[in-house]
Amino acid sequence: MENSFKVKFRGTRGSYPTPYGDFLHYGGNTSCVEVNVGGNLIILDAGGGIISLGEELAREHILSSNNPEERTPVKAYIFLTHLHQDHIQGLPFFKPLYNKYTDIEIFGLPLNKEDLKTTLSQVLFDKVFPLGLEDVSCQMSVNNLTEREAVIINKNKKTVIENIKNLSKIKLDKDDVLITVDKTFAHPKNGCLSVKIQYGGKTLVYATDKESYEGGDKKFIEFAYNADVLIHDAQYTTEEYTSLIESKQGFGHSTYEMALENARLSHAKKLVFFHYDPNYNDLFLNNLEKTYEKTSPQCIFSKENMEIVI
Ligand SMILES: [Zn+2]
Ligand SMILES: [Zn+2]
Repeated sequence: MENSFKVKFRGTRGSYPTPYGDFLHYGGNTSCVEVNVGGNLIILDAGGGIISLGEELAREHILSSNNPEERTPVKAYIFLTHLHQDHIQGLPFFKPLYNKYTDIEIFGLPLNKEDLKTTLSQVLFDKVFPLGLEDVSCQMSVNNLTEREAVIINKNKKTVIENIKNLSKIKLDKDDVLITVDKTFAHPKNGCLSVKIQYGGKTLVYATDKESYEGGDKKFIEFAYNADVLIHDAQYTTEEYTSLIESKQGFGHSTYEMALENARLSHAKKLVFFHYDPNYNDLFLNNLEKTYEKTSPQCIFSKENMEIVI
């Protein structure tokens, strides 16, 4: 459906993969969320979850025609919130990268003053992978993105990066997809982007690796205001976050209560907990889910391969 707005969770785990039987209900793969919006494929983060998506896209591409020249090419926009391993480690194994018909546009925050493409090439390819970034056969552009900029995808799948100050002067077409970002400093120190996708009067906000504040994160609440779906970091229970033995304060992640507070203050219609601590197994998360089901019916727990229609 060209005008649909759908989310599929490809990787829900924070920090590192948990490929163990008693972790797989909520998910063993690291962060990746597939968004199909207005006929466009947007991928939020490229943790291990992006690998299964790549396999499916590669299969669909081959099945689209017997003649390689006539196959439907993969076109995707990948937004990287930051460059921690659990948000990028799947990228070199994303199969469509190695098809010359694929067209990939990557957007993300440059690390310090270094160009994003240079950093990606160093941390994922070259010395740590059999290939260099220059060796991938697809069409690829890597774009530095800051919170002063917005990305617009138009109906012809062309992207424009605009200064957000000019947004009020731009008349968006009903088929345009608007992507804006909010930078948080808590995680990592260089910053992490929360991503907002707006299309057809609906809004999705993706806020991972985000430590909130007592009373809510005011800047973020304004950014996320009235979201239809808010996907929010929920790595720790409050008990663990404030533990006297090993406090998790300052680690750059939120508690379930912090996520709920941001959702409540931003009037989010639906909150989705995301980026689970790798020590939390299915039994533990299931008990949490049962508790929150009773007290906060507007929130849900993300699970690998779960889909939401916005
Ligand atoms: Zn993370
Ligand atoms: Zn991180």
